[in-house]
Amino acid sequence: MPRSLFDLYAETYPFTLPALGYAPAAVEPAVDAATMSLHHDKHHAAYVTNLNAALKDHPDLHRISLGELLMGLRRWPAAVQTAIRNQGGGHANHALFWQLLAPGAPSASAPSGQLADWIVRDFGSVDACKAALKAAGVGQFGSGWAWLVKTATNHLVVKGLPNQDSPLLEGELPVLGLDVWEHAYYLKYQNRRADYLDALLGRINWDTAGAQLRR
Ligand code: MN
Repeated sequence: MPRSLFDLYAETYPFTLPALGYAPAAVEPAVDAATMSLHHDKHHAAYVTNLNAALKDHPDLHRISLGELLMGLRRWPAAVQTAIRNQGGGHANHALFWQLLAPGAPSASAPSGQLADWIVRDFGSVDACKAALKAAGVGQFGSGWAWLVKTATNHLVVKGLPNQDSPLLEGELPVLGLDVWEHAYYLKYQNRRADYLDALLGRINWDTAGAQLRR
């Protein structure tokens, strides 16, 4: 069983790579098996390895959870802030991302409950929310993510963030994240990031996204 997301943000040093939770081909054709394997086994693993290496000689940080490390970034020693931001963000973002993808046959999964209510309230419709996510992903210059976040005032907002910046850095809760680094799609889609985003938005596990609101 994959660890719950609550457990993930509560994780402390030494950090570990969570299991993908499904076969590498389980989200084909949206995400090809080769990309899924490389992305999880190499890229995500590297964020975990690098985060642990950066914190190794800071035992005072070993009792601080991943969520706290990101939300309180400026409180930690300057020497490790960049590593926490990049490697810790990379770890948190990817651990959520795997669970946001729906394995098995493409389904008609849709937001429900509070998430559906808030999407309609803040975007007008699910399709409008998806369009905003796609636009944020296409428009993100260079590497980064398109995010649906819950703000401090309990609203849903779409934004693009660079690199591995987590919404947690600004005190906003990640609800849904779409990885638009080239490593996430280039083997299959090359320069066609918009096509990748269309495919990805058709394979979202909206139950995972909805569960984020209950944190
Ligand atoms: Mn990635």
